[in-house]
Amino acid sequence: MIPRRLLAGLGGCRHASSSTSASAHYDLVVIGGGSGGLACSKEAASFGKKVAVLDYVQPSSQGSTWGLGGTCVNVGCIPKKLMHQAALAGTLIKKSSKLGWNVPDDVSHDWSTLCGNVNNYIRSLNWGYRVQLKDKAIDYINAYGTFSDAHTVRAVDKRQNERRITADHFVVAVGGRPQYPDIDGTELGITSDDIFTLQSPPGKTLVVGASYVALECAGFLTGLGYDTSVMVRSICLRGFDQSISSLVAAHMEHEGTRFLRNSSPTKLQRHGENEILVTWQAVADNSSVVEHTEVFNTVLFATGRTASTKSLGLESIGVQADTHTGKLIGSAECPEQTSVPHISAIGDVLQGCPELTPVAIRSGKLLARRLFAGSSEQMNYDLVPTTVFTPLEYGCVGLSEEDAIQRHGESDIEVFHANYRPLEYAITDIDHSSCYTKLVCVKENKQHRIVGFHFVGPNAGEVTQGFAVSMSAGITYEQLSSCVGIHPTCAEEIVKLHITKRSGEDASVSGC
Ligand code: FAD
Ligand code: NDP
Repeated sequence: MIPRRLLAGLGGCRHASSSTSASAHYDLVVIGGGSGGLACSKEAASFGKKVAVLDYVQPSSQGSTWGLGGTCVNVGCIPKKLMHQAALAGTLIKKSSKLGWNVPDDVSHDWSTLCGNVNNYIRSLNWGYRVQLKDKAIDYINAYGTFSDAHTVRAVDKRQNERRITADHFVVAVGGRPQYPDIDGTELGITSDDIFTLQSPPGKTLVVGASYVALECAGFLTGLGYDTSVMVRSICLRGFDQSISSLVAAHMEHEGTRFLRNSSPTKLQRHGENEILVTWQAVADNSSVVEHTEVFNTVLFATGRTASTKSLGLESIGVQADTHTGKLIGSAECPEQTSVPHISAIGDVLQGCPELTPVAIRSGKLLARRLFAGSSEQMNYDLVPTTVFTPLEYGCVGLSEEDAIQRHGESDIEVFHANYRPLEYAITDIDHSSCYTKLVCVKENKQHRIVGFHFVGPNAGEVTQGFAVSMSAGITYEQLSSCVGIHPTCAEEIVKLHITKRSGEDASVSGC
C-alpha cells in the first residue's frame, strides 16, 4: 500500500483564458499565481492597469498537481493547518475523559474523509481565485512562462499551444518546489507536494528533515495515529532559538514521534509490494558511523526547497540569480528589483526573503503600488513573525537568544522567561511540560528593548501576532509588563514575565 497520486478530480490544468489574444501587450505580466503573484496582480489591476497572470503547475515526480493559488493554498499552509487541526482535535478527544466525556478506547480516524474534505475546501479556494481575477479583468493564463527576450514571455499550455506575450513590467513570482536528497531510490519517496492528497493512508512513515515542513508533517501524522519517525541530520529547526526547538521536539517525542538523531538516509529500496526499505547512517557519540535499515510504508522528504527558476530563460536576458539557491538577487536599494530594471521578483523566489505567505503578499502589493501608484514604500523584511504548527505550536518574532548574544554580547542581554501550565490542559492528560515563553531584551538607557519574542503553547500563532505589532513599534519590557493581562489565558504569562534567566530562579509559574 505505497500511497500515491493525487485524489481524483483536483482542479489542476485548465485551458487558457479565451480573453487573451495571441499578441497581447500588458502593463504587467506576473509569472506565478501563488500568494505573491496574485496579490501583486490584483493590486496592479486596482490602479486600472492591464494585467496578466501566468500560472502553471508542473506535476510532482509522483504526478501530483493542483489548481490556481500556489504552494500555500494547495500544498502548504492551508492543508497543513487543517491536518494539524484534525490531529489536535484527535488528541483532545482522546485525552478528555477527565472532562467528563465517555471516550471509547478505540477512537479511530479516517484518512480519506479528512483528505477528501481538505481538498474540497482547497478546490473552493482555487475557484475563488479564478473568480477574483475575472472580476478584476485580469487575464489568467494557465501556461508555463519562459522569457524569450527581456520584454517577451513565451507561454506554453498543457496542450503545447504557444503564445507570445509582451509587457512593460514583469514580476517573477514562481516560488519553489521540494528538493530531494542525492541518494538512490528517492523516486520511492514523496514530498509535501504529495502528502495532502494521498489516496491511501500513509501508514508507518519516515519523515526525512527536521525543519518547519518536517516537524509540522510529523506532528500531524503522529496526532492522526500513524507510527512516525523524524530523521534529523543535525539539529531541529535550524535558525530558530535552539533551547525552544528542543522543547518543541521533546513535546513531539512525548506525544509519540520517534526522533532518529544524527542520521542521514543513504538509500531507499522497494520491499515487497507496498513497503520501502530505508538504509541510513547514524553518527554515534564516539563519532563512529553505524548503518541501520528499517521498513516503512511512506518516506516523506522534507529536505528543503529549490527556487523554480531553472527553465525561465532568465540567464539569457541578464537577470542575476544565486548560483547555489537559484533565487533571484535584488538590488540594495530595492530588494525586489532584479538586475534588469523592469523585471522584479517577489516571494519565495527572492533571495533573502523569508519563505512565508504574508511576506510574499505584502511585498507583492507594495511593489504594485511603487510600480503604478507613485508609492515609495519599501517592504520591511525585519521583525517578520512566524509560527511552527507542531503539536505544541511555537510562535516567535525577532532574534533567538543565541543570535541576540552574538549580535549584542551576553552582558547586554537580559532574558525574562517562564514555564507555565495552560488552564485548558489542567484537567486533561495533555502534557504541559514544554509550555514556555521568553523575551530576549537588550539593555538600553535603563530600559530593556525587546528584540526577541518566543512562545510555545496552544494557539501560538494567535498569541504571537499581537505581540509582533508591539515589537514593530519598538516596545520595551517595561512597557509590556505595565500592560494588564487577560485572565485566564496563556498570553497573560507574557505580560507577567519577571524572572530573569541570569537570576537562576525557578521559572515555573504556580497559581493565578
Ligand atoms: P508559490 O505560492 O509557490 O507560487 C508560485 C506559483 O508559480 C506556483 O503556482 C507555480 O506552479 C507557478 N509557476 C512556477 N513556475 C512557473 C512558470 N514558469 N510559469 C507559470 N507558472 C509558474 N507559509 C506561511 O506563511 N505559513 C505557513 O503555515 C506555511 N506553511 C507551509 C507548509 C508547507 C508544507 C510549505 C511547503 C510551505 C509553507 N509555507 C507557509 C510557505 C508558503 O507556502 C510560501 O512562502 C508561499 O506560498 C510563497 O508564495 P509565492 O507566491 O512566492 O510562491
Ligand atoms: P528547510 O530548508 O528549512 O529545512 C530543510 C531540512 O532538511 C533541514 O532540517 C535540513 O537539515 C534537512 N536536510 C536537508 N538535506 C538533507 C539530507 N540530505 N538528509 C537529511 N536531512 C536533510 O526547509 P523546509 O522545507 O522545512 O521549509 C522551507 C521553508 O518553507 C521554510 O523556511 C519556511 O519559511 C516555509 N514554511 C513555513 C511554515 C510556517 O510558516 N509554519 C511551514 C512550512 C514551511 P540541516 O539543518 O542539517 O541542513
